[in-house]
Parts: sequence; structure tokens; C-alpha cells
Amino acid sequence: MNKFQWRRVVIKVGSALIAPDKKGCSSRYLLSIAQFILRCRMHGIEVVLVSSGSVAAGAHFFAESDRKDIAIKKAMAAAGQTSMMATWDRFFDFPCAQILLTHADLTDRERYESIRETMFSLLNGGLLPIINENDTVTTDELKVGDNDNLAAMVAAAADADTLIICSDVNGLYDKNPNQHDDAKLINWVTEITPEIYAMAGGADSSVGTGGMKTKIEAAEKATSHGISTFIVNGFEESSFNDLLNGRNPGTLFQPYKRPLQERLHWLTHTSKEQGELIVQGSFDEPLDKNSSQLTSDGIVEVRGEFAIGDTILVRSDDGTRLAKATSNYSSCMLSYISEQESEDLNLQPGPIISDEDIAILEKQ
Ligand code: GLU
Repeated sequence: MNKFQWRRVVIKVGSALIAPDKKGCSSRYLLSIAQFILRCRMHGIEVVLVSSGSVAAGAHFFAESDRKDIAIKKAMAAAGQTSMMATWDRFFDFPCAQILLTHADLTDRERYESIRETMFSLLNGGLLPIINENDTVTTDELKVGDNDNLAAMVAAAADADTLIICSDVNGLYDKNPNQHDDAKLINWVTEITPEIYAMAGGADSSVGTGGMKTKIEAAEKATSHGISTFIVNGFEESSFNDLLNGRNPGTLFQPYKRPLQERLHWLTHTSKEQGELIVQGSFDEPLDKNSSQLTSDGIVEVRGEFAIGDTILVRSDDGTRLAKATSNYSSCMLSYISEQESEDLNLQPGPIISDEDIAILEKQ
């Protein structure tokens, strides 16, 4: 056991596994996952579980015709969350602990640190943290939206070395396996390229929100933090036996050799921008070499409202996303200084963005 040398694993389990009939929770597919968690822990591997299922588990309390209504969906989540937790709790003789998060929680650095602290305390105490999105309080703007990406953010926050995403297919195929008999399972992905995303079309589950595309996004977030990521078939007991025996039953995404430093990873993949700074030209050089060269003269436009310390997106005036960064000024102040001639400013403003607070984005 532990041939993969895992130390801390995050397992993401989707709604289709927990509430396969949308009539409350079922243990049908969870036994092998629970056994896997147990065996990991027996071998000294710490486990964090990201579990969906609250909406699906709470659906049967409400009339079918109402279930598309957002307020009813939130009520479904509130009603189903307790039965989802109770279902997991029944499997274990150690305590489970619930953490409900929104994207807004993860994007705020102070709350992010607090989430990390709580997770570490739970793990140190031998509890099993079970994490879900807090669907009841989220709006479109505040939510992650799918638990694949949430699991990747949690894996990064938990300093995990491995993320296992349980899917309803065996892994990533080179084409849609439901439409092509000759579709081949890709066992090993060394780099997540546009071609890999192209392979991820389809394979949507009818119960949860994540398809294969969100799983690839999650793998990209996790691997860039140095976290090995598996997509495996969560319906097959053999997937977990394979994992326990050091075999890869699905697709394994290799972690980056040089992972992003923790704060830059958080800026790139977890933190959400509150506004945008439109700057002149391609802006490669100042951003690549020394972000403090971003001067008020280079600002074309300030979009949105943000405060000091908020995350902003730096975009070139041709629309290219250049970087995500922490702003040292509010949007109000930046609008003001960008409208002044440099020589008219009484004070020479300090750097708009500090060098350690800027994450350069791939051209997109
Ligand atoms: N948070 C949602 C739930 O518990 C699930 C989101 C997802 O399946 O990705 O039902």
C-alpha cells in the first residue's frame, strides 16, 4: 500500500455517486469509496473528502416542477446537506467534520488562511473533513459552481499531494466513448494542452454539474500546484483496489515539475478578480521583468470597483489577459492617478502592483 507515496489526498465524490436516483442518498456506490478512505487512513495517509450531493439528496422534498427555481435549489441543498453528511458519517468510526465554502471565502486571503488552519486542525485531530460548496448562500458571482474545481482549490489549500476525482467514466478518452467504439482511454497526461481540452467534450453527468471539461480544469489547477491528479471511475470498486495497489485505473495527470509558489497559485487559480486594469500594448516586458514598472501612464482604463488588496485582472488594450495581481490602490484612486499627468502628481505613487503579488497568465 501507498506505492504512490501519498501523504495527503483529496477525494472528490460527485452527486451521481451519492444520490444516483435523485431520491435521497444511497450507500450503493459509497461503500468501496469509504473503504478506500479507511485503508488510506490506516496507512497514515491523510484524507480530505470533497462531497457533492446536497442538491440531489434534497430534491425529493420538493415538487419536481419547482426544482429548477434557484431559491428551491438552495432549499434543496440545505435539506440534502445533512443527509449527505449523515450518509458518510455512518461508514466511519472516526468523526467527520463539515466545511461549507463559497468562492468568495476562498478568494479572500484572510478567510483562505482561516480555512487552511481549520483543515489542518481537523487533520491533526484525526477527523475527516468533508467539504462542499455552501450552495444556500451563493449567487452566481460568489460560487465556484462545480465541485471539481472546488476540489482542486481545496487540494491546493490543504497542501495535498494527490487529488482523486471520481467520475462516471473510466477517465479521459481521446474521443467521446459514448459515441465512438474505438475511443481510447488516455492513461497518462504530462501536459494539459488545448488538444486535451478538445478531448474533454461531452461525458456530462445528468446529476451533478461537472462534465469532463471541469475535471480537466481542476486537473490543471491542481497539477500547477504540484498535485498529481487522477480521474477514475467512482462506480467501479476495482478503481479503488487498483489505487490501493499502486496501479492507475484511469487517467493520471502529472504534476508540474516546477509548481507555482503558493501565493501565485492562489492568485491565478483561486482568487477572483474584482475589477480590471486595461494597460497599453502587449505589456510583456514590464510585467515579465518588473511589475513596478506599471506606471499610471500605462493605464488606459480602470474597470469595476475594487479596494486596496483586492485581486485585479490586468488586460492589454487588445483584450489579452496578461496577469492577475493584488492592487495596492483602490479603483477610485487608480482612476484618479491615471487621469493626472505624472508631473502634476504631488506624490510619486508607490508601485501599483508589488512584484511578489503578480501572476503572469498564459496568453489567452
Ligand atoms: N454543491 C453541489 C451539491 O452539493 C454540487 C456541485 C457539483 O456537483 O459539482 O449538490
